[in-house]
Amino acid sequence: MVNSVNNDEKTVECEVCMKEIPRSEAKVEEASDYVAHFCGLECYNKWKSGLNNNNND
Ligand SMILES: [Zn+2]
Repeated sequence: MVNSVNNDEKTVECEVCMKEIPRSEAKVEEASDYVAHFCGLECYNKWKSGLNNNNND
């Protein structure tokens, strides 16, 4: 038996762009009833402003 892989890191999907990212690198935001993951601040800000803004500019 060969076990060369010792990194079983889980991946998560970015809430905005659906990109797969390592859980350890994801930005995590706990919403009211679920946890959202983001690949970076850019997507996080997009998501955040989408929550608070119903109108288009
Ligand atoms: Zn993203």
